[in-house]
Amino acid sequence: MALKFKSLCSGSSGNAALLWTDSAAVLIDFAPGCQRDCRVSLKEARKICGSLDAVLVTHAHGDHINANSLRVLHEEGLRARCHSGVYHQIKARHGEKYAAILSPFEDALTIGDLTVRHIRVEHAPNCCTTAFILTTTRRRREFKAAVFTDFNGFTDEHVAFAANSDLLFLEANHDTELLKIFGHYGSEFHMSNRKTAKFLHKICKASAGQPQAVILGHLSTDCNKPHLPQKEIEGYFNKHKMPVKFKIHVAKRCEPGRIIVIS
Ligand SMILES: [Zn+2]
Repeated sequence: MALKFKSLCSGSSGNAALLWTDSAAVLIDFAPGCQRDCRVSLKEARKICGSLDAVLVTHAHGDHINANSLRVLHEEGLRARCHSGVYHQIKARHGEKYAAILSPFEDALTIGDLTVRHIRVEHAPNCCTTAFILTTTRRRREFKAAVFTDFNGFTDEHVAFAANSDLLFLEANHDTELLKIFGHYGSEFHMSNRKTAKFLHKICKASAGQPQAVILGHLSTDCNKPHLPQKEIEGYFNKHKMPVKFKIHVAKRCEPGRIIVIS
């Protein structure tokens, strides 16, 4: 195997995912709940992938990193790595207390055989938010994963950043029809199923092949249903005469997902 991925929880009540290779393991965001939940999650994560090297934080919103999770990461001596803008916003929210475990990086970060890069994405006003790509090389072939959670639009630069990924984690927050019925404050800062389908189609068009796996996450409880993002993607690809060759998974709100192996 080159890469393995497992969502631990995904949604407005908490986010955490695990990505690992034979020699490196990272959490992507870490906010599984109370401190007890954080400790249980870390123990489970270590059982699954042996050891943990770092936590990559996409942005400072409390459902991605918070006082509970920072405290547990501090106890366990785990470093949180992020963009410098995210670093300053976490410090502004939680004070200097956790500064010792926070560590910003620019351009690229190497963790074992993983290389991590970030790119800014548009999300809520005044909230520095990033997406990540993680790459590793096996037998002279580069394997790539892209993680875009919490964003509300994309540019050609984002498409190029995610192109040729073997694994894509993308937010598919809401269905626009359900949003009209139920309404939800803050949905404008997140991706609709339709926008996600469009982004994914553009990524596939810009790639030499299609990804092996697509994981859809951060689904709204009221304004989405687990089958709707896939339906939207299949409809959009069909309309644009592109076959869907990848397996689609939906990350559950409060339960871990299955291990997805990329090889
Ligand atoms: Zn957010």
